[in-house]
Amino acid sequence: MALIYLQNNQDKYIHLFSCCILVKGIERSAIYDIQRENIEFVPNTMIDFLEYINGKKVNSVLKEYGANATAKEYFNFLEKKEFIFYSDNAFFPSLPEKSINDDTSEIFFVTIILSPFIYDNFDILARNIEQLGVKRLHFHINNENAMEEIRKILSSLGYSRVTNLSFSLPYQKIDRKIYENGRLKSIFMFNSPKKRFKKNKEVITNYITNNASNLFLTKFNISDIAINIGAYNIAKNYNLALYKTIFVDENGNIKHNFSEKKTYGNILESFDKIKTNTIKKLSKLWNIKKDEIQPCNVCEFRYCCTTAFTPIKSKDGYEVICNYNPYNAELN
Ligand code: SF4
Repeated sequence: MALIYLQNNQDKYIHLFSCCILVKGIERSAIYDIQRENIEFVPNTMIDFLEYINGKKVNSVLKEYGANATAKEYFNFLEKKEFIFYSDNAFFPSLPEKSINDDTSEIFFVTIILSPFIYDNFDILARNIEQLGVKRLHFHINNENAMEEIRKILSSLGYSRVTNLSFSLPYQKIDRKIYENGRLKSIFMFNSPKKRFKKNKEVITNYITNNASNLFLTKFNISDIAINIGAYNIAKNYNLALYKTIFVDENGNIKHNFSEKKTYGNILESFDKIKTNTIKKLSKLWNIKKDEIQPCNVCEFRYCCTTAFTPIKSKDGYEVICNYNPYNAELN
């Protein structure tokens, strides 16, 4: 079928859609479709083939590969997935490599463990969240009757730049009024008697039967990847998992992630102190791209992985100890 279609486009050029990013790993490769926000795993040989045929004339490729069964299989796949197209034009610009990220926030994503101490100082917290320009905010609340706290949080963030708010809390009855808040996007309900998934207005509630102990462990999971143009641009220029992302423990201490012992400041300090002191210290790791970390540098997830491992100095540069092994594509 693919070859018949190719035959009809003999005088045209083969092009890879510019929204399809080829990422070669050591064991397997991936094609990130950043328009459809999807990932497809492919053999490394398909990436070699695709790079070779991209921009070539169909008739010259047919002459070279017309009788090759693997090439036929690859064409079938690439056409079916709409990764390639044919055109009279010989050239199409690819995506610019430099970041076009126009985000002006100091910190983009914050996860907060809500304790009585933080709750009592909520006005200071809300002011700092607002000044830092936080867009994504997650609260973990360990209270089986948390609706009042949630209502207070929603009203305190009324003037913030938060566009995506989420909560994790123990299984309980949800006050339906909270669904009316446009900032609220998701709720993770742990200790649920039953696993289920519900959507109310725009809010997705994910009921999980597990307790909260594994919720913030730094562990790679396929659901933690981000395939979109913004994430890709950040990943090409910074460490996507750490960039403008903080974890705030129950005492307000700012860290890169839940497991980190070191702290970089406190969320209840003055905005100026956080901006000049904390962010300066945090940003040292933001600049260490996954391309510079082992084994991320050979991993097909390196431009979409959001698992916040902190890189540690090794004799050849930096490394992380990840539960995904890109050398055999196995997840532990
Ligand atoms: S090896 Fe690196 S890029 Fe790959 S999944 Fe693990 S942390 Fe993410």
